[in-house]
Amino acid sequence: MIETRDESFPEIRDSVRKLCAKFPGAYWRALDRERQYPAEFVAALTREGFLSVLIPEEFGGSGLGLGAATAILEEIHRSGGNAAACHAQMYTMGTILRHGSPEQKQQYLPKIARGELRLQAFGVTEPTSGTDTTRIGTFARAAGERYIVNGQKIWISRAEHSDLMVLLARTAPRDEAKPTDGMSVFLVDLREAVGHGLTIRPVRTMINHATTELFFDDLAVPRGDLVGEEGKGFRYILDGMNAERILIASESIGDGRFFVDRAASYAAGRQVFGRAIGENQGVQFPIARAYVMVAAAAEMVAKAAALFDAGAPCGTEANMAKLLASEASWFAGDMCLQTHGGFGFAEEFDIERKFREARLYQIAPISTNLILSHVATHVLKLPKSF
Ligand SMILES: Cc1cc2nc3c(=O)[nH]c(=O)nc-3n(C[C@H](O)[C@H](O)[C@H](O)COP(=O)(O)OP(=O)(O)OC[C@H]3O[C@@H](n4cnc5c(N)ncnc54)[C@H](O)[C@@H]3O)c2cc1C
Repeated sequence: MIETRDESFPEIRDSVRKLCAKFPGAYWRALDRERQYPAEFVAALTREGFLSVLIPEEFGGSGLGLGAATAILEEIHRSGGNAAACHAQMYTMGTILRHGSPEQKQQYLPKIARGELRLQAFGVTEPTSGTDTTRIGTFARAAGERYIVNGQKIWISRAEHSDLMVLLARTAPRDEAKPTDGMSVFLVDLREAVGHGLTIRPVRTMINHATTELFFDDLAVPRGDLVGEEGKGFRYILDGMNAERILIASESIGDGRFFVDRAASYAAGRQVFGRAIGENQGVQFPIARAYVMVAAAAEMVAKAAALFDAGAPCGTEANMAKLLASEASWFAGDMCLQTHGGFGFAEEFDIERKFREARLYQIAPISTNLILSHVATHVLKLPKSF
């Protein structure tokens, strides 16, 4: 492993590395082939308390903050593993923590901290609205003590491996008020909902991601499972998105470091034309460039996480961190594949799997163009195009 100077949370990183060593490439390859969920890995992370670091101590977590969480996710990805199966267990609870009632916090957070409840499904995206979230069509109609939900979602990851889901639905038509008003957040108990108005259908993708589409057909959700105020849901979701972007950026940093480690080690050992391929500057320089790009992106991730932990505004930094990290990891992945020549395509090297996995983060949870649009219009004050 290439030395990374001034690492934050060295003890946490060391523990995560030790845990990940028990889940080597062969583990991830076998799951990838069958598109299976890494249940043992997630159980081990839960047991060690790594998924509850963002939950305050008063609710049973360790309350360490986003800096620690980024160190954990980065190390998982650097080891060759993938935290996408469970990263949302860390931050989806933030909606309850920041906007839930005292009763909801007491009811859910301690159980989430202990791993007895999995809250790692987050239902926002829909097939017809895409990134334009204000145009979601899933509607929750108030009916006495319940809401009746109808509609459809797509790309809702881990819904089959979650007990609860944070759901965004319209509770008032878009044309009645401001487009961002009239949406509400619900906590849906998936164990009760499936088969009673909710159907979950897996979507097979180019990576092992346990993502699904959801169909709501008169699903009844108790009024008590509304989070915060009716109609304010869009704002609540936005709050959580900064944390999500920073954490996912840290996964990209881990991917980037994995690719640099592997490429440097392979280039030093592989002999062609009577010398190590790494002696050729045509091979060296892309590895060095990837190292520089990943290191620079990591600085932005650290800055965004520090702002978040200080309770300061960090929307722009979270977006920039996600953009830089996802592009640096993709550059590093392409470089690593090239460095390995034909062997980069062999499953047993894990490069092709990580290459596929790293690509996601230029699209989800928010695509690069939408980040550029945020910077152009919010920071540079250029005219809005939509
Ligand atoms: C594997 C996977 C897992 C996911 N998990 C979840 C999940 O758990 N929960 C959830 O809610 N969602 C999830 N998503 C959805 C994800 O957040 C969206 O795919 C992403 O935000 C992009 O939205 P879209 O696919 O609808 O693309 P679209 O909005 O259709 O955009 C398509 C392309 O057009 C570009 N584009 C669109 N509008 C503009 C514009 N005005 N200017 C310039 N470019 C534009 C975009 O940048 C993008 O490249 C997941 C997606 C994937 C693939």
